[in-house]
Amino acid sequence: MPVLVMKFGGTSVATLDRIRRAAKRVGVEVAKGYDVIVIVSAMSGKTNELVGWVNETSPMYDAREYDAVVSSGENVTAGLMALTLQEMDVPARSWQGWQVPVQTTSAHSAARIEDIPPANIMSKFAEGMKVAVVAGFQGVSPEGRITTLGRGGSDTTAVAFAAAFEAERCDIYTDVDGVYTTDPRVEAKARKLDKISFEEMLELASLGAKVLQTRSVELAMRYKVKLRVLSSFEEQSDEAGTLVCDEEEIMESNVVAGVAFSREEAKMTLVSVADRPGIAALIFSALSDAGVNVDMIVQNISEDGRTDMTWSCPVDQVKRAEQAMADAKSAEIINYSGLLADQDVAKVSVVGIGMRSHTGVAAKMFQVLSDEGINIQVITTSEIKISVLIDRKYMELAVQALHDAFELDKAA
Ligand code: ADP
Ligand code: ASP
Ligand code: MG
Repeated sequence: MPVLVMKFGGTSVATLDRIRRAAKRVGVEVAKGYDVIVIVSAMSGKTNELVGWVNETSPMYDAREYDAVVSSGENVTAGLMALTLQEMDVPARSWQGWQVPVQTTSAHSAARIEDIPPANIMSKFAEGMKVAVVAGFQGVSPEGRITTLGRGGSDTTAVAFAAAFEAERCDIYTDVDGVYTTDPRVEAKARKLDKISFEEMLELASLGAKVLQTRSVELAMRYKVKLRVLSSFEEQSDEAGTLVCDEEEIMESNVVAGVAFSREEAKMTLVSVADRPGIAALIFSALSDAGVNVDMIVQNISEDGRTDMTWSCPVDQVKRAEQAMADAKSAEIINYSGLLADQDVAKVSVVGIGMRSHTGVAAKMFQVLSDEGINIQVITTSEIKISVLIDRKYMELAVQALHDAFELDKAA
């Protein structure tokens, strides 16, 4: 039997009624002759609640226990989905990550999937089970402890199963009907894309478009998984939603495919550090050892052998960065006169593979922001994206102005 993977996100399993609706969609695919692997998220809001409980109990928590707690939301929806399918006379069974097993690294709260041996689930399919409902977001470490894959990780569970079972397709059911030119909640004129390339989706996801977890796109690209994003709230045809695919499969595309943003950024500046070989290595290895994910970096002009070093990182890592720098100072590893943290910045990025062959995108982006009176604090570029760090209060304005200027509401 051909295998199909169907993933339902938090809003798609938020109530028993919605689980029933999702189960009906699964039933349609079973009737077509597929063996279906259903990956479920926790009910919407549940994971946030669990994370909140952990933080309240233990601010400097043990990551193994964090995973024990936050993985539990998916166990509930997996069991409920299996029960719902059974009520509809569809032979179904639920699986927690460790039962499959979904083998991961032991990097708790950000584990990577290493292997998914298909044998257990395959033997159940051979016995007549039609649907394996698997709890997303979780796995088991080599030490035998429960791990989680980072926020949004059920997308990655889904793609990893599609690769391991050589599924015909991996359908990601969510609360929007596909991938848009930007988040439709921020720009009402955002346009749904029928297709988007793996490269562009990867950039959009890593720059903040949370419709797919970055790692899921990486895996889909590597294992050539046919990946589709579609709505769980509408009747669906086989062409519905957005197909994430190789760029060769896309005939026409705009120079800029989309605008992404990340709200929770911070800009930190280490004031007056010695401008000498090795100083950047010291600073950024201290930050990395402290688990700070540094994104943009700027070294300012040096005066009298001293310079300022600026970087951006997620706002919830500012405390860790401050601690790491304070430790490095008291250990006399890095000498500096001050550390500034601006916690009110956001990152806005334009992404498109057309930038490889078109010049002028950066100039246009900067002009648009200038016309709106928005000051650019830091810039980074790659072959197919340009990102700027700006004052957070202008984030929506910037997204909308860029979406307009690059005419993303119109197809190529
Ligand atoms: P799920 O719970 O189903 O995993 P998420 O909330 O993780 O859903 O992802 C879907 C959300 O992603 C949408 O509701 C939308 O607000 C947001 N989003 C951000 N950027 C985009 C984009 N470019 N296209 C579509 N949705 C986007
Ligand atoms: N429930 C997890 C989260 O909220 C995983 C997921 O939904 O993808 O991050
Ligand atoms: Mg998600």
